[in-house]
Parts: sequence; structure tokens; C-alpha cells
Amino acid sequence: DAVKPSNFLRAIIERDLEQGFQPARHFAGSPGDAAHHAAGPLDPARIRTRFPPEPNGYLHIGHAKSICLNFGLARDYGGICHLRFDDTNPEKEEQEYVDAIKEMVAWLGWSWNTPDAGTGSDTVSHLFYASNYFDFMYRAAEYLVTQDLAYVDEQTAEEMRVNRGDFRTPGTNSPFRSRSPQENLTRLREMRDGKHPDGSMVLRAKIDMASPNINMRDPTLYRVRRATHHNTGDQWCIYPMYTFAHPIEDALECITHSFCTLEFEDQRPFYDWLVEHLAAGGLLARPLPHQYEFGRLNLSYVVTSKRKLRQLVEEKHVSGWDDPRMPTLVGMRRRGYTPESIRAMVESTGASKTNSWIEYSVLDGYLRADLEGKAARAMAVVDPVKLKLQNYAEVFGSLEHREACSAPAHPHLPELGQRAFSLGPELWIEREDFMETPPKGYHRLYPGNKVRLKYGYVIECVGAEKNEQGEVTAVLAKLVPDTKSGTPGADAVKVKGVITWVGVHDGIPAELRLYDRLFTEAQPDSGDRNFLDFINPQSKRVVQGFVEPSLAGAQPDQKFQFERHGYFVADRKDHQSHAPVFNKITGLKDSFGK
Ligand code: ATP
Ligand code: MG
Ligand code: MG
Repeated sequence: DAVKPSNFLRAIIERDLEQGFQPARHFAGSPGDAAHHAAGPLDPARIRTRFPPEPNGYLHIGHAKSICLNFGLARDYGGICHLRFDDTNPEKEEQEYVDAIKEMVAWLGWSWNTPDAGTGSDTVSHLFYASNYFDFMYRAAEYLVTQDLAYVDEQTAEEMRVNRGDFRTPGTNSPFRSRSPQENLTRLREMRDGKHPDGSMVLRAKIDMASPNINMRDPTLYRVRRATHHNTGDQWCIYPMYTFAHPIEDALECITHSFCTLEFEDQRPFYDWLVEHLAAGGLLARPLPHQYEFGRLNLSYVVTSKRKLRQLVEEKHVSGWDDPRMPTLVGMRRRGYTPESIRAMVESTGASKTNSWIEYSVLDGYLRADLEGKAARAMAVVDPVKLKLQNYAEVFGSLEHREACSAPAHPHLPELGQRAFSLGPELWIEREDFMETPPKGYHRLYPGNKVRLKYGYVIECVGAEKNEQGEVTAVLAKLVPDTKSGTPGADAVKVKGVITWVGVHDGIPAELRLYDRLFTEAQPDSGDRNFLDFINPQSKRVVQGFVEPSLAGAQPDQKFQFERHGYFVADRKDHQSHAPVFNKITGLKDSFGK
């Protein structure tokens, strides 16, 4: 496994474990509750973390940080990590996202199933849905009302906004704030029973409208919203707010360490306020969960916000959530990024108390390090021009002769075997490998110069054919006999250049999708910029090239190193053996920013 930098979250967990910290052993609430059994049998020596995505979009590289942190810390300290769908908002959530999120957490290499502590054999699932706790949440809301800790507010949204004040001005109490608990309870039940229209009133915590922390100025707990929920259907017409729901979810699942990103720091006092009051009333068991914040991960040249990613998809700037240029995990998978490289990058950045910007080249470095050791090699010609070997029949006796050539599939993995391809009278080479009048230092083909065809023979350039516009249509050369790679005469003729090639007779035509970064600016959404203004018009280029015959059996998602060009992957959606499609993952060395 990659290095695991020590970080302040590890220090917190180690402190808690050292101090004999004991997670909650059982749930409060009535036995009929789904929540009551949520976390299964509890082992008091274990920490519990959770990754709590809202199923309203696809996961992106920033989520990978949260996933690897939560699952990774649980793994490292013998704990358990829950996958919890934070599905309390009925409007934007869909099963499609639930399925995709599960798929990508597993793809990254994590599991929410653990062996059953009792039997050691069967697995216990730690997959949860916040919407299963709606009954409990509503009971908690009624409890707060009866304790005069919450009230129904009938101000308009605008009045509430104005009366909340701002960081300079204290807020103003709502005229509905002094209603009696009994009256509030009646109102809340009417809200639940559908007696009031959407948006007409909300339930708010009764804390302090003058608090310097605006999050403590009577935050909203419930709103009226008639919307069909993907899990609970039309059972509810009131839905809890995230700030109310999340601490309850953590507590019901006996989460010990609730890790979230820095923007939630100001909500921690409310988190504590809520779980403390519910524990005091016997609704939640102690010890209570604690929230700790860490810095978001940002990657240069991408945006990591579901809203902006959705905009790219909906406005068709990309082909979909899994467009290979997208920083979504489905997009990165399709582009050819490996889960190992993403994990290594995320783990190398640790956890810090500030939001961090990671250079895209860092991720590419981990990707190359991973693929270098496992991707089979192959030759491909991306910008083909024909090379005609004029003395072919003289050297081999016939134009029909095919001279077998081979190369190891991987220089350090003999178990991957040999690749076979052959030489014929016509080959595809890169257009840039010929120049009629070469600049100084150019060692490839120009009239009179010799180069080696990689894994083949030395050839000498004798000229080129051109069309009426003066464009080169074929490069002409002669084979130098007895110079085949791997034979005793191979080194007799010294050359300064080696070029890659694919036989016209056995090369496979392939669509090559050459991807570059999606944005031209490192931080396209910083400040008040419109990130859409910085879309790279050259981020996708599709060319027709040729690949060597060893790629005939390439499977979707299989990765290769195309010698000299970089890493490519057979597209998982569009690649077919009779119509190959390869995506460029990245070059052989960093060319970003150059
Ligand atoms: P976005 O801001 O992209 O809309 P989100 O935070 O609303 O994402 P959630 O589904 O609620 O999306 O996120 C699940 C978890 O992933 C949260 O705990 C969130 O803090 C974490 N997370 C999201 N983005 C990042 C990031 N860039 N770095 C680290 N963690 C992140
Ligand atoms: Mg969120
Ligand atoms: Mg967000």
C-alpha cells in the first residue's frame, strides 16, 4: 500500500482509542424503528466512520478523498465504515445515482460489508439510507417542540432572511417564536398531515437569534414540500433539513468520528446542540458522535462541484457524466485512470485543516507509476503516412513475403509473452517522422538518412511522393539487408533515430480519441469567474490511426502503453473488436502546462 501520511485525524482517533473510548452500544428509540437496528451488532472497541453521499449526482475526484479517508481510517484502525445515502431531499435524488455511487465506491476498492463479528463467516452489510430514519427524525422534532426547543414559524422566506441578520447585525426574533409548545405541536402535526401548503411554514430550532454564529440563529429543521421520495414515496409531505438530519443519522448509526469538509465547521455547534438535547431526553444513546472537519481536495484544471458538473452535462459541453474528460469517477474510469492511482494520489495528500489544490500532474504521476508496471506495450501510428520500401522484393525475394518480427509485451513481465507482427513492403509511420529539409538535430527520416524501424530493420530514406498541393503522400526508403533487430548484424550499421511503425497489411484501423485537459485555466471557477469561459476547445480530438495486430483481442477497459505516445485504454462503451476505439489516458511524461 502507498505511504499513509500521518495526519490530525489519525491523531484524534489514536487519542480516542488510547483514552479507552467506547462507542455507543445500543440504540435508543423504540424497537420497531428501522433505525433501531441500523448498525447491527456493535463491537465496543471499534471506531465507526461513514461516507454519506447525497444521491443527486455522480461522484467526483473530491468525493474519492472523502471515501478513501473514511474507509481508509476505518480499515487502518480495525473499524467499520458505513456507506450511507443521505437521501433526505426528495427533489433531486434518483435510484440511478444510488446505483452509480455504489458501483464507484466498490470500483475504488472499498466494501461496506464486513465479516460478521459473531460467526466470522457471513458478511454484514453497512449500507444505510437516511430516509429510513424519517419516523425517528419526526419524533425527535416533536420532542424538541415539547421541550420548547423548537417552534413553527410562519414568516415568509423573505421575512426570515431579513430577520436572520448578518455577521454584523444580530437577528430579530420571529413574531411566532413565543407560541406555546402545545400550539407548536398542533401546528407541526398539521404540517405533517398536509394541512398547509408548501413553503407556508417551517419548523425551526429555538436557540439564539443574536448568536455570532448565524447557523445558531434558529436554524430550520423541517419544511413542507409535496414531492415523491425515491424511497418513501408520498408518505411524507414534510422533509428534514440536512443540518437536522445528519447528526441524527450519525448518532443512530453509532458513528464515532463524523468527518466532513471545512464548510461544515460553523455547523458543528448546532450538531452538538442537537445530539446533546436528544440524548438528554433519552432519544439518543451516549457516547455521542463528534464531527471533525478536513480540507476539501481540489484538482487543478478541473471543477469539483456537482452543480457545475451537471451544467457541463446538461449544456452538452461534454458527452455525459462519464465523458472521459470529466473529473467524475465514472469519467475517470472511462478515461483509463486506475483506482490504484486515484487512491495513491488521495492518500499521499493526507488530511489537513485547509482546502488544498493538487496539481493534475501529481495524479498523472501516480497513474504512470501504476501503469508502467502493468500495461502491455504496443505500437500505434496516430498520424499515419505510408512508407514504401522500394527494395523489398529484392531483399526478401517477393512482395508477398511477410517478415515476422516480435517484441516482449512488457519489458519486465516475461509472463505477458511476446507480441507478433510483421514487415511488408508498405508500412504506416508517423507523418512527423519525415522531413524533406530537416532542422539541426533531427535524426529521423530525410533523404539520405538512416533510421531503425523499431524491432525491425535499418532503412535509408530516398525521398517522398507528393500530391499537387505539395503534401507528402508517401515516404520512400530502402531496407538495409542483414540489420534485423536481435540478429548478429543488427549493430553493424549505426543510426541515431528509431521510429515506430505498423504494417499496412496487418495494421488494424482504430479510432483514437486524444484527450487533453477540459479547462485552459488551473482554477477555472475561482473568484467570480464563469468556468464555462475556460473550456479548452482542443480538449478532444478524434483521429483515425493504426495499431499493431496484437491489439486484435483488446478488451474494453484494457490499458496499453502505445510506445512513444503514452497510455491508452480501449473505450469501455464504444470499443468493439471490429471497430476499435482507444482513449488516450495520458502521455509518457508530464506535458501539462508546457
Ligand atoms: P458537491 O460540493 O460537489 O456538490 P457535496 O458535498 O454536496 O458535493 P455529497 O454527496 O454531500 O456532495 O458529498 C459526500 C461527502 O463527500 C461529503 O461528506 C462531502 O464533504 C465530501 N466531499 C465532497 N466534495 C469533496 C471534496 N472536494 N473533497 C473532499 N471531500 C468532499
Ligand atoms: Mg452535500
Ligand atoms: Mg456541496
